[in-house]
Amino acid sequence: MVSSELGVSVSTLIGWSKDPDAFERRRASCARCGSARLPASAYAALLGFYLGDGHIARGPRYFALRVSCDNTYLSIIEDVAACMAAVHPNGRIAQLRRPGCINVQSTWQHWPCLFPQHGPGPKHKRPIVLDDWQRTIVEDHPGPFLRGLFHSDGSRVKNWARRPVAGQPKTYEYPRWQFVNASQDIRELCCWALDLVDIPWRQSNVRVISVSRREAVARLDELIGLKS
Ligand SMILES: [Zn+2]
Repeated sequence: MVSSELGVSVSTLIGWSKDPDAFERRRASCARCGSARLPASAYAALLGFYLGDGHIARGPRYFALRVSCDNTYLSIIEDVAACMAAVHPNGRIAQLRRPGCINVQSTWQHWPCLFPQHGPGPKHKRPIVLDDWQRTIVEDHPGPFLRGLFHSDGSRVKNWARRPVAGQPKTYEYPRWQFVNASQDIRELCCWALDLVDIPWRQSNVRVISVSRREAVARLDELIGLKS
């Protein structure tokens, strides 16, 4: 059925047949199949959030982009909502409460245009490859992309060590960032973006990318901000 292929209702199709410009106006709102401008920095961050804790669900009329956020990090929830609002300015952002988390959601028929990685099944069970236009945006805006990745699937953990100084034990704090994701493709995208900004990393576990050198942690702190 044509209406289901386009992701719109029959009444919308009838409306378009009476007002042909309406279809063009609607398509024009998309930066990929239409003529809208994509706010690159907000998009780069939203791409990071999507690859971290986001997914796209197909509804009867629209696709829903959802990013699952820990409900203790209110600034990150605001950040995700602001990025969605920048990328889809006419959309309504919903915050859906779930146990321990809040799903930030926006519905739109064009989300798969902007996130062509959308597909059936979990992200770690299918290839995740960025299109050239997405790689260009991340190359221009690696910081926002890393913010999206680390503020969704990352954590800043503190390690402690005691060392004697002038005969007295002294406690040192060693913060480090970790990015944890089951998808090798997504971990490699994280490493690629860290390379773009010359931040050294290492694979500390099969699913974990660590940034642990003192200067590297400070640089990443400055680039993406702490989780709050
Ligand atoms: Zn589109």
